[in-house]
Amino acid sequence: MNIYNTLTRRKEAFVPLTPGRVLMYCCGPTVYNRIHVGNARPLIVFDVLRRHLEKQGYRVTFVQNFTDIDDKVIGKALAEGVSYEEVAARYIEEYKTDARGLGVRDPDIAPRATDSMDAILALIGRLVEKGHAYRAPDGVYFRVGSFPKYGKLSRQSLDTLAVGARVEVDESKESPFDFALWKAAKPEEPSWPSPWGPGRPGWHIECSAMSAAHLGETIDIHCGGQDLIFPHHENEIAQSEAAHGAPLARYWMHNGFLSIDNKKMSKSQGNFFTVRDAAAVYGYETIRLFMLSAHYRNPLNYSAESLEQNRAALTRLRTTNDRLVFLEGHADAETMAPEEAGFAALLKEYADRFTRALDDDLNTADAVGVLFEAVREINVRTAGSASRALAALCAGALREMTGVLGLLEAEEEALLDDGVEEMIRARQSARAARNFAEADRIRDELRARGILLEDTPQGVRWKRETV
Ligand code: AMP
Ligand code: ZN
Repeated sequence: MNIYNTLTRRKEAFVPLTPGRVLMYCCGPTVYNRIHVGNARPLIVFDVLRRHLEKQGYRVTFVQNFTDIDDKVIGKALAEGVSYEEVAARYIEEYKTDARGLGVRDPDIAPRATDSMDAILALIGRLVEKGHAYRAPDGVYFRVGSFPKYGKLSRQSLDTLAVGARVEVDESKESPFDFALWKAAKPEEPSWPSPWGPGRPGWHIECSAMSAAHLGETIDIHCGGQDLIFPHHENEIAQSEAAHGAPLARYWMHNGFLSIDNKKMSKSQGNFFTVRDAAAVYGYETIRLFMLSAHYRNPLNYSAESLEQNRAALTRLRTTNDRLVFLEGHADAETMAPEEAGFAALLKEYADRFTRALDDDLNTADAVGVLFEAVREINVRTAGSASRALAALCAGALREMTGVLGLLEAEEEALLDDGVEEMIRARQSARAARNFAEADRIRDELRARGILLEDTPQGVRWKRETV
């Protein structure tokens, strides 16, 4: 696989530290609010990266933290008159609801900053010991001047930074670019004991400490949105590499911004939709497909039109899949007819092109394109009649692709939960008992849920209403 590495600004062949293993860390949410659609972009694209690597045979360990203590969490707790723990616990649950809804698999390890205090304190201690950090009246700071490679990820030097920035003078810091590792406790704020007095950790040190604690000093892939390159990831590199004398991560991956009216969607600007609200209108899976319709490094604009297009595309995919599943169980012919046999080779070609697209720096836009080409071709080939064997082959080929993209998963469960099949059976029994009123009632109820029934010689078949 080739990966565009922000550190080198080049696409590079991906070679993991240990053959067959991948250690990945993605910066997780600060839990004080429901996530917005922009926040969902890294979740979805790096979930596909994880699935693709696993499909290629790697054993992936995926760590994503929860930043559960920070100014915003504390601010929210104060505003509501509740504890910061309550705010964090609530929004961790809210986050999980959205992430799972979006088909994002749970991380292997999801450490919380407040559960990682020992690792954080040990890392700060090491930096102080080595002269990379110093004590100030309001906490402990990282001394950027002590790390000559500071700026290597964002490609700026301390000199260029000083020219470009409007620097606020801060008496307690040696350099304006020094950043807090430990923030001395303020009244009314939660704090933890430390050798430098009670306080709480800065945001950057949390990730450095949790990454090292769970994955080791050097990992394979560290990822997040482009806005994390500076200062967050730059500072993580400075802390980790100054402390360990080893590279923090070999590949740095950053997703581009999701915008709305061509401006970055952001909480602070107020131009956002929460994932929850967008999902109520379009469905979680539509949001997922929309996100994968662009290459992860390119900008992507959120619009009703775009979401509607993806919703329609998803319905096409589901309809084809449903039809194949039905044919698999009900088609008259069991085995493939001679004229069907050649199609197997074509399906294999789609599968190869799909994998090649993802191997090329996770080009999900191309991969989604291949998937829908396959859908079109399958529809043509199976429109008249198809054997059970061909239907199974096509369904299998689709599932290989949707499995990596994380599509059609939630739906299957939802339908089982919804008991569609059960209702169809109930309708059959009603018809058999000549209770046509009841049979029609069930048909109407299903229709209200977007499920259309079709009586065929092979039995009842259901499909989703196309938009
Ligand atoms: P935040 O809550 O701002 O720390 O963001 C959480 C994650 O979402 C980070 O990886 C950000 O880089 C990412 N992110 C925030 N806004 C956007 C956006 N508009 N488009 C893409 N990614 C974003
Ligand atoms: Zn981080």
